[in-house]
Amino acid sequence: MQNNLNKSAASALFNWHYKKKELTQCVDNISKSALAFFEAHFDFSVPYIDTVHESSHDQTVKFLFKLADDHKVETVLIPFHNKYSICLSSQVGCAMNCAFCFTGTQGFTRNLSSSEIVGQFIQAWRWLAEHRPGDERILNIVFMGQGEPLHNFDAVKKACEIFLSQHGTSIGTQKITISTAGYIPGLERWSQDIPGVNLALSLHSPVEKKRNELIPINKKYPLDAVLAFIDQIPLQKKQFVTYEYILIKDFNDSIDDAKQLGALLVGKSAYINLIPFNAFPGSVYQQPDLATIDQFKTVLDTFKIPTLIRTAKGDDVLAACGQLNSKVSQARL
Ligand code: SF4
Repeated sequence: MQNNLNKSAASALFNWHYKKKELTQCVDNISKSALAFFEAHFDFSVPYIDTVHESSHDQTVKFLFKLADDHKVETVLIPFHNKYSICLSSQVGCAMNCAFCFTGTQGFTRNLSSSEIVGQFIQAWRWLAEHRPGDERILNIVFMGQGEPLHNFDAVKKACEIFLSQHGTSIGTQKITISTAGYIPGLERWSQDIPGVNLALSLHSPVEKKRNELIPINKKYPLDAVLAFIDQIPLQKKQFVTYEYILIKDFNDSIDDAKQLGALLVGKSAYINLIPFNAFPGSVYQQPDLATIDQFKTVLDTFKIPTLIRTAKGDDVLAACGQLNSKVSQARL
């Protein structure tokens, strides 16, 4: 058996699994010794599709994946303009315990490996090819599923390298977004190791006391320090940071909240996503009415910061932002 892989065998392997998205043993132009090498050194298993929930409102699809150790994670395909974004999980559960997020209530179990992260993409693509043939166009990747991606940096970085590679899925840097609650050690690594990949910060309140309630790690890594860190990262041309803001009725949806948010972000390469809160079983918060949401945006418009109100997709199958929880999905089976 050969001791390492020559270039052409490695290239054939990438092509087989990441471009053709085959799950079986690679048979394209592979020598017997290379095949023996694969068998001895690689594991080609991917997460198993346990359950699929399709939204009846839109084209959203939520997958419950079963991992080799029987733990489960969720992944969501979100439709936009006849294409899909995929929302990937990076951990089983999450240690951040954010108050507005269903995943936060399930606690942290373990990190996902890079193959479990890339495997979610491959399986979702294969499901589309089988069930919605011709529609298997997943053009954006967002790490906004279960887990804090920067808390599992090494595996997320490796997965991004595969997504970005010309030999891998060949997705452009501007099409991948990593979302963080503001975990500064991970931000430091992101800025050094994968700077071209987009960043989204879960901001949710410019007021320290409220942000402490929504995102407990704000007590350790306060918003001021997170924003100061992000501000000194040189962004690439046309790159901006997305600031996510979940609008919660009578909590962070006032005109004063909007003015403070605008004042905090004015002048930055910023883009604001306003996300009306999505309820989940046991949640204590509520969604504001449409007039309040519009008013909030109108205030932000005066600061000339590009702002989008994100409409919920897949909320009927608990697939919208903040609604993922693989323990509850598992229990419902
Ligand atoms: S919002 Fe993100 S970081 Fe916070 S608990 Fe949910 S998955 Fe974790």
